[in-house]
Amino acid sequence: MTACPRCSAAVTQKTYAGVDLAECSRCQGLFASPAVVASLAESTELRGALHAAIPSLSPQRDPGAKYLHCPSCDKLMNRKVFGRVSGIIVDVCRDHGVWFDGGELGAVLDFIDRGGLAKAKRRDEEDRVEAQHAQKAALVRERLREAMETSPRHRGFGDDRPIRAQRVLDFVEDLYLIFG
Ligand SMILES: [Zn+2]
Ligand SMILES: [Zn+2]
Repeated sequence: MTACPRCSAAVTQKTYAGVDLAECSRCQGLFASPAVVASLAESTELRGALHAAIPSLSPQRDPGAKYLHCPSCDKLMNRKVFGRVSGIIVDVCRDHGVWFDGGELGAVLDFIDRGGLAKAKRRDEEDRVEAQHAQKAALVRERLREAMETSPRHRGFGDDRPIRAQRVLDFVEDLYLIFG
């Protein structure tokens, strides 16, 4: 561990409620390994115990779009909204863990307890289904376009052919979006 990614003060290893974290001695930011973050997402008891043990602080307003260095490997971390809908921006090193500024870990634990992760998962699932539908619709559209362009039956159609073809394509796309 190097210095605090936020304020450069010394970072020390702490154990709160049996959970190992690295803590900044000045701003009380906390760094949690991916395994710790996963265990917190899973266990209500662990969240409760940890929440009671860590310093109680109100989260500071995010000090702006500044990229922080991972306290473990020193690479720049990604800024990410925790659980997608929490509104809490954390800094993530995929290999080493998540940096929570002072007070943010408590806010994140509250968010998980309110069912935030389940909500984020539902949103992900909805997006995935929607993307699948759009993909299918685009595929059908493309096939139909090819078919209409190459079909000899359509030679000699009047000037409205492209318009009618477009309507058919729109209709098919709507069907796919609605019914999958
Ligand atoms: Zn600090
Ligand atoms: Zn790292």
